Amino acid sequence: MMKTVLVTGASSGFGKAICQKLIADGYKVIGSARRIEKLNEMAVQLGDNFLPLLLDVTKKDAVENLLIGIPTDFKPIDILINNAGLALGMEPAYEAHYDDWEMMVQTNIIGLMHITRTILPTMVERNCGYIINLGSTAGSYAYKGGNVYGATKAFVKQFSANLRTDLLGKKIRVTNIEPGLCGDTEFSNIRFHGDNKKAANVYQGVEYIKPEDIANTVSWLVNTPEHFNVNSIEIMPTAQA
Ligand code: NDP
Repeated sequence: MMKTVLVTGASSGFGKAICQKLIADGYKVIGSARRIEKLNEMAVQLGDNFLPLLLDVTKKDAVENLLIGIPTDFKPIDILINNAGLALGMEPAYEAHYDDWEMMVQTNIIGLMHITRTILPTMVERNCGYIINLGSTAGSYAYKGGNVYGATKAFVKQFSANLRTDLLGKKIRVTNIEPGLCGDTEFSNIRFHGDNKKAANVYQGVEYIKPEDIANTVSWLVNTPEHFNVNSIEIMPTAQA
């Protein structure tokens, strides 16, 4: 039977590339995000095994009810990819905008908690499943301006580790992927509130990781045998150390 994957933040960047790769691998994929029009465009290309789902991960009620809106042939969810996330501003802490901090916490921490708390019981009930979280090297290494963004990703890292402890002895796997400098996503444009020039500066002269690299990593992970778990993967371009 085909397995079903739920990818959050599927409308661009890593999430979109992951959907494309997993559809090609033969999975059913539910792609969720706030911009449903982007997901609908993807559905035209990806076909009937792709289900676009409007979902803001910060809205607790919507997340709690998400399973109600999913047709039976896309249930149960076998694999959850917690990818929705963002960085905003990232000025030094003494200049940062509090709204940016709050939004990062709401999306990267609270949103990921909402989805996990909703989907995990269905995996425990069936004693099988796989959760892949998108953390970041920012969760392990300090850097200027990384203050709250890095702390949200440190949460993702430790939450992943603690989940594995809660799930000890069950056939449910948890992996934290920690990408370093990645380009060709909307991440930097969002970080600089749409200032493309500033966004482009981040990647000048650097051959960075591409969304396809992350998608290929996810594809490898979900196709590994179910008896072992890759706890975490740190992926950097050779231009970063
Ligand atoms: P993008 O900005 O291209 O993609 C982010 C995705 O998250 C979009 O699909 C967006 O969709 C979705 N999203 C944002 N907020 C919400 C929300 N409240 N509810 C639902 N979906 C939401 O960035 P990337 O692909 O680069 O980033 C993906 C993940 O990888 C993030 O968690 C990021 O922190 C992490 N990461 C990125 C790195 C990079 O350098 N690019 C490096 C390390 C980690 P929509 O706006 O339609 O809701």
